[in-house]
Amino acid sequence: MNPRAKKFLSYYKPYLGVFTADMLCAFAVAGISLILPMIVRYITNTVLVNYEISEAVGVIAKLALAMVALAILQFLCNFFIAYKGHIMGAKMEYDMRNDIFDHYQKLSFNFYDNEKVGQLMTRVTNDLFEITELCHHGPEDIIISIIKFVGAFVILIQIDGKLTLLLFSVIPIMFAFACYMKGKMNRAFRKNRENIAEINAQIEDNLSGIRVVKSFANEEQEKQKFRVGNGKFVESKSYAYWQMATFHSGLGFFTGMINVVVIVGGGLLIARGGLKISDLLTFLLYVNNIIEPVNKLINFTEQFQNGITGFSRFMDILEIEPDIKDKENAIELQNVRGDICFTDVAFHYEGTKEDVFENINLKVPAGGYVALVGSSGVGKTTLCSLIPRFYEVSGGSVSIDGVDVRDVTLHSLRSNIGIVQQDVYLFAGTVADNIRYGKLSATMDEIIEAAKEANAHEFIMGLPDGYNTYIGQRGVKLSGGQKQRLSIARVFLKNPPVLIFDEATSALDNESEKIVQESLEKLAAGRTTFVIAHRLTTIRNAREILVLTENGICERGTHAELIAKNGMYAAMYQVGTV
Ligand code: ADP
Ligand code: MG
Repeated sequence: MNPRAKKFLSYYKPYLGVFTADMLCAFAVAGISLILPMIVRYITNTVLVNYEISEAVGVIAKLALAMVALAILQFLCNFFIAYKGHIMGAKMEYDMRNDIFDHYQKLSFNFYDNEKVGQLMTRVTNDLFEITELCHHGPEDIIISIIKFVGAFVILIQIDGKLTLLLFSVIPIMFAFACYMKGKMNRAFRKNRENIAEINAQIEDNLSGIRVVKSFANEEQEKQKFRVGNGKFVESKSYAYWQMATFHSGLGFFTGMINVVVIVGGGLLIARGGLKISDLLTFLLYVNNIIEPVNKLINFTEQFQNGITGFSRFMDILEIEPDIKDKENAIELQNVRGDICFTDVAFHYEGTKEDVFENINLKVPAGGYVALVGSSGVGKTTLCSLIPRFYEVSGGSVSIDGVDVRDVTLHSLRSNIGIVQQDVYLFAGTVADNIRYGKLSATMDEIIEAAKEANAHEFIMGLPDGYNTYIGQRGVKLSGGQKQRLSIARVFLKNPPVLIFDEATSALDNESEKIVQESLEKLAAGRTTFVIAHRLTTIRNAREILVLTENGICERGTHAELIAKNGMYAAMYQVGTV
């Protein structure tokens, strides 16, 4: 079996019991819809004809009771399908959502460099919804439709072959019309959804840049632009509604026509003496049993397409093998000292041909402090991201304590490396939660201790709820320097032997830079530290400064040595870029 189909079916596995019950209910619902007109026929054809009036009343009363019982049974089955069936769908959605979320956690930087978050979100929301709709409605719709359709045919053909063939000859025309119109209608609504997506993008763009709009006083022009997009929405929606109206009223017309065909055909047969009036009544009662499955089947084709498209998009993600993962017998790093060594390292980003750098050789002993300088885009960030193995080297190797980073588990490797970057990401939650992210088991005392080390305690105590102040969209706004100090507190708590500061103070004003710098220095004490910075203060004390250019490391030494050398570093120092 196709592996994707197998995977699809595997989601049913935990719910086989409910699924079976659901299918039995579908059988019952369809069966009962077929039986009810049969009872009516029995009453009109047999009871009213063959029985004495007094007897007939008793029989009809009994049959009425039976019909009520069947109707109640049908009600219960419908209820089960609508309730338990949907819950089964929701649980399958839950399983799929967990699977894709877990998979997202495994995928590497490479993957996220090339994907948009919005699209990855769609997989988890829209696509999954389409899939589970199919999972749970698909099988029951098929069962109910086929039983009703085939059942009605078998029953009617025994009553009267000619009239049955006449009735069923109209169905293909109706089916073709409905399929055609449904297709047109769906395309129109899809077009409309695209227009809405465009409008949303436009609104988002406008609101994100509202300050620019206002500073250029361009509100009028923005409004005009928006009117155009919003106008297209009405246009496409009008067209879609036109299609929808044609579809629904057309179907209604066909239903009417089918009744007419049955009545006229049946009338002629009765006139010729080939059919009883009660049989015509039965035919009319079954018309619904035939039209409804036709509708359901048309719905199903749509549901099937959407569900399968959704599922293949879902599987496209699930089938991506994480390019960076633990080797089979990867070792746990323990008691890390922090010797970092680059040997003949070459690297290029996936999809690009040119190496960002090659032949990088670098040895930093435990506790060493190395600064990387160089113009923007030469690869400083890239070089450092090879240490926590965010990307895989293209050549050579990076090792920690003499062990290749590819031979250790990602978890133990990354647990031993702390990173402070220019952009700080704080999660929605309290201040304490955000610091605790560095060590999930930390006690409140440890959190406060870390905040003190990071020069953050004082400003945190000044917040409305102290450590319990909520930060995030609806929470307090923190300044760049304050956020940076929280991110440093996180790393204090994590307490890793290896540190990377990637332009941690670049975005800060002089005042906050000083405070942050102070806590960074405190943090660096006794740990292997890589600093990327463009201001001299940060790197002056570095034991080794590496000057990175397009051609790799072109100068290395202490500040004094490099100034004395009067090369690239000295030139940068003079113009003040370092
Ligand atoms: P630096 O930190 O020195 O400013 P980077 O390490 O960020 O430089 O970037 C080095 C080079 O790699 C740049 O030319 C940049 O365009 C490229 N680059 C950075 N990140 C990616 C990525 N995710 N995918 C492809 N190319 C990248
Ligand atoms: Mg950088």
